[in-house]
Amino acid sequence: MDVSKYRVEPGGNFDPAQRPTREGNDFAGGKKAARKELARLSARLGELQARLYAEGKQALLMVLQGMDTAGKDGTIRHVFRAVNPQGVKVTSFKKPSELELAHDYLWRVHRHTPARGEIGIFNRSHYEDVLVVRVHQLVPPEVWGRRYDHINAFEKLLSDEGARVVKFFLHISKETQKKRLEARLQNPRKNWKFNPADLAERKRWDDYMAAYAEALGRTSSDHAPWYAVPADRKWQRNLIVAQILLNELEAMDPQYPEVDFDPAQIHID
Ligand code: AMP
Ligand code: MG
Repeated sequence: MDVSKYRVEPGGNFDPAQRPTREGNDFAGGKKAARKELARLSARLGELQARLYAEGKQALLMVLQGMDTAGKDGTIRHVFRAVNPQGVKVTSFKKPSELELAHDYLWRVHRHTPARGEIGIFNRSHYEDVLVVRVHQLVPPEVWGRRYDHINAFEKLLSDEGARVVKFFLHISKETQKKRLEARLQNPRKNWKFNPADLAERKRWDDYMAAYAEALGRTSSDHAPWYAVPADRKWQRNLIVAQILLNELEAMDPQYPEVDFDPAQIHID
């Protein structure tokens, strides 16, 4: 599957309105075929994760962003279902604590970046500091306005030091968010996920899209690319994310280390 069309070109302008939030029903041979393919890709991700860990030289950082109900949690659950839980570290970034706010905004982030051999997943990330923070004017424009440069430098540092950074914007339509928020109200097992404050965020949809446009346009780079993934349909979203991650891991090509003994010469009584 060709996923290059979902990539956000570096240095360019990014406009969410020009990107699809869904593909057709025949995407990847249809829903049933896509689910089968996802199982295959997930298994392959599991194999590559084992090699990445054994090699212990490179790290992969996956950044997940999207509006409420875009499917950040579901993507992690589905795409990583065949990956050893010991090999991945998920960090969910919530509203910063007082201690965190007393520091620069990258302070709480850097300590959660993956070590060599690990896959790190950021469920929300430092991008909140140019998204929600901008939309709600939690700091003045000159403060968040400087952050794109910081973020680019930060991600260059991670990349120079052996981490591959891949960023996903799960792109849903406003209509899909409405349906998913309604489902959270209707399904008692989903009630807990509903936060009345999400409705206030929804009212600022256009402000968020403007913030995403600038963030993705200014921070997609060769060493830390953004992908805008159509996410109205979960089966399409999962398959696209899995394929992109797999491409990245295959390019990293982690190898099992050579051992300095001859296993054939060792006898165990
Ligand atoms: P959830 O992802 O539903 O658990 O919600 C987490 C909430 O934390 C979201 O409303 C985010 O916008 C918010 N959040 C995450 N990072 C920040 C940040 N740096 N500043 C302000 N709010 C944030
Ligand atoms: Mg929420």
